[in-house]
Amino acid sequence: MNRRQRFRDLKPHVKVALVTLTLVVSGIVVLVVSLDRLRTVERHAIDAARRAEPARNALEAMNNGLGKTQYEFSGILVEPDPVARVLALEETRRQLSQNEQDWRRFQELSLNLPGEEDLVRRYEELNEHQTLLAGPVGLGLIAGMLENRDPGELFRDPTFVDLRKTQREAQQTIQDLQHLYDDRVVQELTLAADSAERGKQTVLILYGSVMVVSSAIALMAFRSARDKEREAAAEAARRAREARRNELEARLYRALEMASSEDAAFKLVGQALAEALPGQPAELLVADSSVAHFRQVLSTDLVDHGPGCPVVAPTDCPAALRGNTLVFTSSDDLDACPYLRERPTGPLAAVCQPVAIAGKTLGVVHTTFEPGQPPGEEMLADLELIARRSGERIGVLRAFAQTQLEAKSDPLTGLMNRRSLENAVRRLAQDGTPYVVAFGDLDHFKQLNDTYGHEAGDRALRLFAKVLRDSIRPNDFACRYGGEEFVLVLPDCTPDEARAVVERVRSSLATALLGGRVPSFTVSFGLASSQQAERFEGVVALADSALLQAKAAGRDRVVISSGRTRALPPGVSASELATPNQ
Ligand code: GH3
Ligand code: MG
Ligand code: MG
Repeated sequence: MNRRQRFRDLKPHVKVALVTLTLVVSGIVVLVVSLDRLRTVERHAIDAARRAEPARNALEAMNNGLGKTQYEFSGILVEPDPVARVLALEETRRQLSQNEQDWRRFQELSLNLPGEEDLVRRYEELNEHQTLLAGPVGLGLIAGMLENRDPGELFRDPTFVDLRKTQREAQQTIQDLQHLYDDRVVQELTLAADSAERGKQTVLILYGSVMVVSSAIALMAFRSARDKEREAAAEAARRAREARRNELEARLYRALEMASSEDAAFKLVGQALAEALPGQPAELLVADSSVAHFRQVLSTDLVDHGPGCPVVAPTDCPAALRGNTLVFTSSDDLDACPYLRERPTGPLAAVCQPVAIAGKTLGVVHTTFEPGQPPGEEMLADLELIARRSGERIGVLRAFAQTQLEAKSDPLTGLMNRRSLENAVRRLAQDGTPYVVAFGDLDHFKQLNDTYGHEAGDRALRLFAKVLRDSIRPNDFACRYGGEEFVLVLPDCTPDEARAVVERVRSSLATALLGGRVPSFTVSFGLASSQQAERFEGVVALADSALLQAKAAGRDRVVISSGRTRALPPGVSASELATPNQ
């Protein structure tokens, strides 16, 4: 991994921190370099001041020298002793020559400052004038002039007065030059100090401003990067939760798809609840077909948590009534569900999640928790999805069962239809179970229809079906064979026992008709045993023949078939099978 890639992989706030650190370090480097530059400027100024120093020193020496010359020259004028005067003249000459040397030295060191040229010219004029009088030549003349003269008189001599004046003016010019250089030195140093100070202030203000602004920007960028990171982390966590829930939902969906009965589906729902709420007691209450009562179809981990919710009917359950998830923080709360109160296990928290089956709230998932600790959003979402998927699957299973039931039964009477009877009889034949077929046909039913209407006819058919159902054993089969024809298949039964059954049907019918809601009618039956024919169709045909006989004999009666298409089993006589009866 190279450096650039490593930087790219860093978290945004770390990147911002690194960039800020780099900015701060660069700022400090720029500050140090700037201050160093300022110091260099300062040094240059000091150097310039220093350069002026030697010229100034030469001028200083000149000033002193000129002062001395004046003093000595005045001394000569008042010196009475001729020997001492000569010596003084010598000394003055030497001093004048020294002054000349100093002047030349100054000119070599001269910086040619503004105004210097005029002063130099002026000095040279005065010096020339002075040298004429007091130069090496002039001094010789002076020595002669001094001979035999009164010093007081000499002092007032216009020539010497002029010389002294020239000397003073020359010294003054040198002092002016000296001031020029002094000013220059002071000026250079002051300027350097000022500009260094100003520069320092500017650099510090700029540096401070840049640091404040870049710190503010860095802080904002850092906060924004950290917020974005937090948002990204929250988003990743949300996606992970969603992925986990989707996965749970997909697994539950696949499992429920394979459940072919409600009980199998309930088991799977229990497993899903145990997975989503580990260690938490949960139960599923589902209403029975009458929608009047709840039945607990599954429970998880209820052993240590006492009995489940005592609610009896969906109409009493607040969650089922509202169709909304209800979360109760504590059973002691004012607005807690009444069915949560006073449980033997003490106070608790609960979630009641309604289950919609085929669009109706027919169930509720009831889960309990420690008081004050209801589940978080994630668990609630899991519960919601389990309840939704369970409701959907139970709805599908119920619709499927209903369709199957409808496919097997006659819609008007609810009895088996012909095909499902044939299937049931096929199973009997496979098991070798003997049976009797009782073929019934309502008497003069066309007339009943014509007289009282088709509606009355339908009521009569439904009434007869009920009578049939009530008269047979649980493992007998009753079927509407078509129109007003009915077939009973009575397993493990002799024709005589079958006769007793259909006689019971006839008398029950008579009783049922006493109510008067349905016009009175009768029924005729023909009976045949499975021992009389090889196949079910054959047995039905024999029973149908017997029925025709009953019709022909005047209706409202039972005839047992005497015909057969297969050999009688040993011990059974033909007369037993054919007993016409009124
Ligand atoms: P019989 O005693 O000889 O059997 O006379 P019947 O009138 O019962 O016999 P028929 O076969 O002539 O008439 C059968 C009648 O049953 C005709 C039809 O209108 C009536 N029927 C058949 N299916 C239904 C039904 O689903 N509802 C009603 N109301 N009547 C039906
Ligand atoms: Mg008929
Ligand atoms: Mg009939």
